[in-house]
Amino acid sequence: MLRWKRKLLVMFSILLCISCSLLEHAIAAETCTEHVPGVPVGVTESTCTQTGYTGDIYCKVCNKRLSKGEMLAKLPHQLGEPINYEAPTCIKPGYSGDRECINCKQVFLGNTLGISDHQFEGNDCVNCGWKIPGFYIDNELIMDWDDLKANGYITTKETSKGTEIASMKGNLGGLLVIGEEITYLDGNQRNLYNDYLQEMWIPRSVKELGRYILSNLPSVKECRLFCNVDSISGFSSSNLERINIPDSVYYIEAYAFNGCKSLKHIDIPDSVIFIGGDAFSSTGLEELILPDNLEVLGECAFNESLKKSASRLDHGNGQ
Ligand SMILES: [Zn+2]
Ligand SMILES: [Zn+2]
Ligand SMILES: [Zn+2]
Repeated sequence: MLRWKRKLLVMFSILLCISCSLLEHAIAAETCTEHVPGVPVGVTESTCTQTGYTGDIYCKVCNKRLSKGEMLAKLPHQLGEPINYEAPTCIKPGYSGDRECINCKQVFLGNTLGISDHQFEGNDCVNCGWKIPGFYIDNELIMDWDDLKANGYITTKETSKGTEIASMKGNLGGLLVIGEEITYLDGNQRNLYNDYLQEMWIPRSVKELGRYILSNLPSVKECRLFCNVDSISGFSSSNLERINIPDSVYYIEAYAFNGCKSLKHIDIPDSVIFIGGDAFSSTGLEELILPDNLEVLGECAFNESLKKSASRLDHGNGQ
C-alpha cells in the first residue's frame, strides 16, 4: 500500500513539472523582446555518402526556432591512385584502372582505353613492329594494300564473319602484310591458292582466326600475329616454321598445329589455359615449355612430337 502511494506521488510530480515548464515557455515566447540565437542544433557534416545539414537556430531565452538550417550537398569521393592501370599500345587496348574512394572505400571501375595509332618511320611502326600493309620482297614495299586491291591481286568480301580475303593471285612471292580492314581469316577459299608466298602478317583488326588459314598457302613459313584473338586454330598441316602466339590467347584449339612438321619451336604465353587434343601432334617440336596457368591439356596434344623431352610436360596441371 505504501509503495502505491509513493508511485502516485512520483507520477503527479512529473506531470506538474511538464505543465509548469510548458507554461513558462509559452509566456516567455510572447514576452521575449530580443531573441538571442543559440548554437546550431542538428548539425550534420556532409560526407561522400550522405548529405549534411547546417542546423536549426533557436532563441536561447524563449527557445523559439529562429531559422531553419539548410541541406548540404554530398562531398565528392576522394579517389585514390588507379589500380590495375594498363597503358594502351597500338595492338592492345589499355585500361584506365579502378579507383577506390579513400573515405568510403567504394570502388569505381575504370574504362577501356582505345588502341593508339601506329607510329610509322618509313614503312615500320616503331612501337609494335607492324608494317604498312602491302606486299614486300626483301623488306622493300612493292605494292601497298590499296594498290594490291586496285590491281586485282587481292579481293575482299563481306561475310557473316566479317571482312575476309576472297582471292589472292598466286604469284605474290614474298611477305604479305594484310590490310587492317580484314577482321576474319579463313584460307579455305577456292581462289586463294598461292604457293609462292613466304610470310604473312596478320593485322590487329582480325577478331577471329578460321580453321584453314594456311591450307591454300603451302609455301608460307612464317606468320606474325598482331591481333588480339583469344583462341588459335587453323594452322594445321602447313609448312610453318615460325609463329608467335599473342598474350591475348587463352585457347589453343584441337589440331591447331597438327601436322606442322617444320615447326620446331614455339613459345606459349602464360595466358594460355587450354591446349586442345592433337594441337601439336605430328609437329617438329623437340621441346615445349607449358604455361604455368594451363588447366586443360587435351588428349594426344603432343603425340609423336617431343619424344626427347617428355619430362618438360610436367609443368602443366593437365594430364
Ligand atoms: Zn526569444
Ligand atoms: Zn567516397
Ligand atoms: Zn604499331
